[in-house]
Amino acid sequence: MAESRRASLGQVREFFSDIAFILTLAWEQHKPLVIGLGLVRALGAVVPSIQVYIGKLIVDQLVSLIQDRSQQALYDVLFFVGIEIGLLLLAQVLTSLTVVLDDVLGEGFPFAILGRILKHTSTLDLSYFENPLFRDKIEAVDQEMTWRGKGMLSIILNLGSEVISLIALAVVLFKLDWIFVAILVGTMIPVILIEFRQSIITYQWQKSWSRWWRHAWYYRWVLAAYDYIQEFRIFRLSPLFISRYLDIGKRYIIAFQSHSLRMQNLHFVKNILSHIVGYYGGLVILLFRALSKPITIGDITMYMSAYRAALGSLSALVKNIADIYGNHLFIQDLRGILLYTPRIAIAPHAQTLDKETPLAIEVDHVWFRYHQDGPWVLSDISFRIEAGVRMALIGDNGSGKTTLVKLLLRFYDPTEGRILINGVDLREIDLDSYYARIGVIFQQFAQYDGRIREQIGYGAIESMDDLEQIRNAARISGAEPFIEELPQQYDTPLGKWELEEGTVKLSGGQWQRLALARACMNQHAALLLLDEPSAALDPEAEERFFEQLLREIQGKSIIFISHRFSTVRRADKILSLRHGHIDEQGTHEELMQRNGRYAELFRMQARWYE
Ligand code: ADP
Repeated sequence: MAESRRASLGQVREFFSDIAFILTLAWEQHKPLVIGLGLVRALGAVVPSIQVYIGKLIVDQLVSLIQDRSQQALYDVLFFVGIEIGLLLLAQVLTSLTVVLDDVLGEGFPFAILGRILKHTSTLDLSYFENPLFRDKIEAVDQEMTWRGKGMLSIILNLGSEVISLIALAVVLFKLDWIFVAILVGTMIPVILIEFRQSIITYQWQKSWSRWWRHAWYYRWVLAAYDYIQEFRIFRLSPLFISRYLDIGKRYIIAFQSHSLRMQNLHFVKNILSHIVGYYGGLVILLFRALSKPITIGDITMYMSAYRAALGSLSALVKNIADIYGNHLFIQDLRGILLYTPRIAIAPHAQTLDKETPLAIEVDHVWFRYHQDGPWVLSDISFRIEAGVRMALIGDNGSGKTTLVKLLLRFYDPTEGRILINGVDLREIDLDSYYARIGVIFQQFAQYDGRIREQIGYGAIESMDDLEQIRNAARISGAEPFIEELPQQYDTPLGKWELEEGTVKLSGGQWQRLALARACMNQHAALLLLDEPSAALDPEAEERFFEQLLREIQGKSIIFISHRFSTVRRADKILSLRHGHIDEQGTHEELMQRNGRYAELFRMQARWYE
């Protein structure tokens, strides 16, 4: 019991911190709009209580008009009616303003928040993006933002409006007698607590069912998916999957009945409390008061309309509480993402690399594993590449080549050992200045949506408009001939999303050449990292590509991964990895003389081509 109360208290605390979080985000993004909307809403929230009070004055003046039939009384009534009309107009204006400001803020909110999230995630290191849970969270936030984001702020601001409105109505009731405020508060508190209880129950209910919903969704999806239909026909799986789906449905209905009953019970208590105990209880007290104290008809109508308005605000308030709770998981995800911090720490006095000095790289007894308890992916790797040296990295799949490239790019830090750039630990180097000296093509290179000149220009954004430099990079990578055959040449739109009309489709090899051109774009690059840069090229194209690359690129270090020995043999140095260890290293000739695994594999491949 105590435990469940503690849990509920915890959830109430989370509720308020969710509100604070969203308000802080909104405040950071749109200060003037939030202030404007806050003022308009606050004013709008007190108008009903003033209307109620003026209503009482009208009724009282009407009574004296009926009794006295004096002109003064008529003028008084007309005066108050005039005020009431003015208030009505003011309320209309404020409502319209609230809607407009709410909409403007609501439409901009998802952009602002996603912008903030993207800014944050762009500072996080690669390891986060390799974690499926992290990616799921970002995807969920991204998807839900479009439909939750717009209304989220206005739900919270509504809650504030209703609270102000209730306080203002309580002030009006206080003018009658404090007892009515006590009754209002006395019924409101349990009603709000019950609403919290209901929201928590709904939240837990949704949580407990979300796993089953995923199952049901899977069965529904699989039964209609084209990829499965053939096996479903042959193995006659449809009845089994349909019965599994219906079974979940049956269990759901049974569970839902008791959930719904529980919710309705609480709903019933809530209504009894607020309507019967609160409203009619207060009315009876007021009528008894009439026996001992002078009470006007205006007082009675004021009580009735104030209490009814308070009931309206109360039900809006509890609905807002439920809505905010409904967004809890989403807000948790949002907050969770912003709480992630970069793991790759940049040293406070990191050394900035200039744009000219050649780079010598030393990998010094590096050990690496992805997870604390995981297997070693790299074990005691040591080698050195002087500036301008071309090194080939070879090894079976899974031997650690790409991981080594990732360490050289400081996507991860070595678990043990260090990587030195011109004698300085990579952890002590300003990464922006290091990346400004690197050209890279990854195994899974990007295929951007954009013009060809952009696809290449992204490799050196400061030179994106330099068509000469772009052409030069395309020439080195061998992309130039096919680009020049396209009607729009460097202005040809490309991309999977086909954002532009007339988007052209390229072959895998052509895309790869563009990615290579991007890698060659940076004229300040002192190190080129090429992870299987020719995987999509045929052997002849690869041969020509490397020949050209090595001819064109002088004085830069190159580390390339390749499985084709005709290319590998051109390297000044070959490093062969096996199960994360250095198996062999040396020049082609040295390794052939050694007559080890390299020589064996080389001869094997040479025989295939004979
Ligand atoms: P290669 O490039 O030589 O094919 P990789 O460097 O990609 O090899 O992978 C080396 C080993 O590290 C493999 O066993 C692979 O499963 C593992 N590995 C690669 N990336 C990750 C990762 N993000 N998390 C955990 N293990 C990984």
